Amino acid sequence: MGLKDLFDKIWSDSKQKDKKETKKRSKKVKKIKVVSEYSNRFVKFYHLNKDRLNKERKGSYSQKKKSGICVRCNRKALNGIIFCEYHKQMQKGYNEKAREK
Ligand SMILES: [Zn+2]
Repeated sequence: MGLKDLFDKIWSDSKQKDKKETKKRSKKVKKIKVVSEYSNRFVKFYHLNKDRLNKERKGSYSQKKKSGICVRCNRKALNGIIFCEYHKQMQKGYNEKAREK
């Protein structure tokens, strides 16, 4: 092995090592940044919109209740309850399952 080959080998080894480490480090940093940005954005969106979101949810529920529409789907609800025939049966199933526990 000549001196040039040895130099080339050391040079390429150190280059590869540097490349690997840089890649690893930047990947880690990027991941953390993305996660925190995502959660910050989500938290911000939630706080900006929580009143509106809650109001909308409540509004449509009581509106459907008042107009006699099933709150689970948009079919006509049965008299005196907030569900259609189908969802009344579903609800009955849930209650029976809950009681078994
Ligand atoms: Zn329904």
